[in-house]
Amino acid sequence: MKEKIKILVVDDEEVVCRSVNRILSKEGYRVDEALRPEVALEKMKGAGYDLVFTDWKMPGIDGMELIARIKEIRPETDIVMITGYSSIESAVKAMSLGAFNYIPKPFTPNELSNITARAIERRRLLREERSKAEKTYVIFEYVMPDDLYYLPEHAWVRVGEGKEVAEIGIDDVYQKTIGRITKIDLPEPGGLVTQGNPYAEIHASGERIYQSFSPISGMVAEVNQELKRDAGLVNKDPYGKGWIARVNPSSLEEDLKNLLHGDAVIKWWLKREIIERRQENYVNVVALDPKFKFEIAAEPGGEKIRSCFACGTCTAICPVREIDDEYNPRKIIRMALLGMREEVLASNFIWLCASCYSCEEYCPQGVKFTEVINAIKNIAVREGHIPPSFITQLELIRTHGRLYPIDDFDNKKRKKEGLPPIRMEAGGAERTYELSGLKKMMTKTVRPSP
Ligand code: SF4
Ligand code: SF4
Repeated sequence: MKEKIKILVVDDEEVVCRSVNRILSKEGYRVDEALRPEVALEKMKGAGYDLVFTDWKMPGIDGMELIARIKEIRPETDIVMITGYSSIESAVKAMSLGAFNYIPKPFTPNELSNITARAIERRRLLREERSKAEKTYVIFEYVMPDDLYYLPEHAWVRVGEGKEVAEIGIDDVYQKTIGRITKIDLPEPGGLVTQGNPYAEIHASGERIYQSFSPISGMVAEVNQELKRDAGLVNKDPYGKGWIARVNPSSLEEDLKNLLHGDAVIKWWLKREIIERRQENYVNVVALDPKFKFEIAAEPGGEKIRSCFACGTCTAICPVREIDDEYNPRKIIRMALLGMREEVLASNFIWLCASCYSCEEYCPQGVKFTEVINAIKNIAVREGHIPPSFITQLELIRTHGRLYPIDDFDNKKRKKEGLPPIRMEAGGAERTYELSGLKKMMTKTVRPSP
């Protein structure tokens, strides 16, 4: 397997190229070197590489530009930026241009070998996620709460009230790509941590040791003692019980400027998908509306939408799904959380729910999906997205006061029971439609026929 992975190292210092080559070749990878970025670009046009390590500071084309140009030629290439310790800002910028990650200088053979293994594992995981996504619209299944700050694909920060203490940990993508965590060497309380620099050593299966970089600077106030007993808590609950340390920040405002907050990290992911041109037909990032989930949460019944962690239990239990595999409650929630407002409101799916409440019984997060879907329908109706079949039914009730015609047979039966006959020309709902605003809504409909 390893001999199939082709790696290119780009650095104007021959000694760096040589040592990266030596370390990774020994592990069985196929490694090539380029002392100039122009040479690297030529090589990329040829056979291409799975993974590129590039220095940032180089004469002529620098590392940032090289990342952008490699992504133009071979979007699927993973790139690791080799950078100085303190340049986290540039590291994040490199990642937003499509680099997979960064490795600070000086690095050890172990660190180099581990980041390579992580890049390969991430490739495998993303390939898996993308093949699932073909049917679900959901590009990745990584969980990223939207109230945290992120050093993307690495660490998170939860800022406490008063901003005197911030909790830090590693994010879902990172924990998934390093595998099962067996031990964590925690920092000492009272010690200092610096943004972008290692502060904890993470031991994972396969005897690999990874450095975890702190997303902020400050003094360690407390460490999570539970991790000494069970380091796997980070795998099980990376944003909750798996927190690593609490820090008294020294330059929080400045540090946060280098990180991504909440929704921004989701957009960042989607943008990377587009940079890598792997799913360009799926999501128009610019059209995403991050406020959509709050809009749903503000509707009666929609309050708990943000608690959904995409487990899929609702989809597994849904009887409508049994007969129509296009219908997928989890997909609807994921689209709504991603901010695909127009796609959700105009879709046919939201009208297929039979309101049986089965999913609510089983949702481990207490998301009341039936109410959530009603909240979404209410917004859809206000914006004129009413299916034509519903409009026809509303018209029947408005003009005749009922959905089904009354014929002589019904009236004969009523007479037998001593009831008065019913006349179809009742038209009694007209005034109700006007007073309730329903008439206006019906004329507003913008929904094209399905
Ligand atoms: S069961 Fe609940 S948490 Fe799981 S996907 Fe459905 S709504 Fe989300
Ligand atoms: S309430 Fe709707 S989504 Fe939930 S199980 Fe029933 S039909 Fe499916």
